[in-house]
Amino acid sequence: MGYINRRRSTCVKVGDKLVGGSAPVLVQSMTNTPTEDPVATAQQIKELYEAGSEIVRITVNTREAAQAVPRIVSELEKMAAFVPLVGDFHYNGHLLLRDYPDCARLLSKYRINPGNVGRGDKHDENFRMMIATAIEFEKPVRIGVNWGSLDQDLLSAMMDENAQRPEPLDSHEVLIEAIVESALRSAQLAESYGMPHDRLILSAKVSAVPDLVAVYRRLAARCDYALHLGLTEAGMATKGIVASSAALSILLSEGIGDTIRVSLTPEPGTSRAQEVTVCQQILQSLEIRSFSPQVTACPGCGRTTSTLFQEMADQIQNYLQTQRPIWRDRYPGVEELRVAVMGCIVNGPGESKHADVGISLPGTGEEPRAPVYVDGRHVTTLCGPGLVGDFIVLLNEYVEKRWGAIQQGACGTPR
Ligand code: SF4
Repeated sequence: MGYINRRRSTCVKVGDKLVGGSAPVLVQSMTNTPTEDPVATAQQIKELYEAGSEIVRITVNTREAAQAVPRIVSELEKMAAFVPLVGDFHYNGHLLLRDYPDCARLLSKYRINPGNVGRGDKHDENFRMMIATAIEFEKPVRIGVNWGSLDQDLLSAMMDENAQRPEPLDSHEVLIEAIVESALRSAQLAESYGMPHDRLILSAKVSAVPDLVAVYRRLAARCDYALHLGLTEAGMATKGIVASSAALSILLSEGIGDTIRVSLTPEPGTSRAQEVTVCQQILQSLEIRSFSPQVTACPGCGRTTSTLFQEMADQIQNYLQTQRPIWRDRYPGVEELRVAVMGCIVNGPGESKHADVGISLPGTGEEPRAPVYVDGRHVTTLCGPGLVGDFIVLLNEYVEKRWGAIQQGACGTPR
């Protein structure tokens, strides 16, 4: 699917997942429970995993958090939630990884922020200790730069250097360059300590969309490390979703990015798993990967009759959502299904013909009949109060006919 040529990156093994190379772009997320609470943390990891997160990061910020990692892993095993866990380390990671070998062994990857490993001489020594642990336990590392915690020694040195130029660059330009350099130099330093090239992943997150695009274009041009994308501190609700989608879509459409995360600030009472759904929707909208059947619905306008159209589009969306986990197991490939629910004759028949299964509802002044199209052909016309139910029957028949056969091959093998 899709027309995007991925950038060639080095393939890295993270637990049982492959990141970069020719592997699909993976969806990541991060917990917001205290890691010291292994039951709550495992429960949220399970929720993220079930929503489709393929790698989950947890903060490991205290001794209690590091001690909790084995219990989190055993809780997840009990719940059959097998997902690679990444430990997020800042300030004291070199001590925690040294003092809690079970934590170091059970995590599938370490995230190291080079801006938060100490200043001056301590920086390189602390960083070396963490890399040594990664080498000992054969773990990959993500060098995760964040402009909110950029290596201040590096930034100062680059600012001083810039000031000596005959024509100094704008300080924002130096900042962007320092973010890129921090990631690249840290990776080189890790390799100089013996870290294999194919165990490093880079990220360099900022919170403004144009800056993120500029940073990742430079990283992609200057190295072949696998890249993790994310707009940091994206924000809440619509703002966070739109900003992340804008930034990630530009980069992904240029073939840049091997894993993605959408860092949403959850609104009270909403699920942490929303960030996973947004990642999936970005990848599916760009036709990079498919995760669930998609409904194309027109927005409705003055031609739509009352609320019937909105209700029906909603009922069909809900039905597809409910069926998703059932269909996923029973009908491999059903995530490619495209359904159209249109509001009137203007674009209804045309859009319905482009979908796998489409229905064009009657608009104001039209006859109360709804033609249904399957694979571009008009197959029947529905009417009356049972219209939604009748349409769902047709939908089920289509799914069974197209994807049910895959499971009916000899000895359970796909045909
Ligand atoms: S398909 Fe019809 S109802 Fe839907 S937006 Fe277009 S004109 Fe309006």
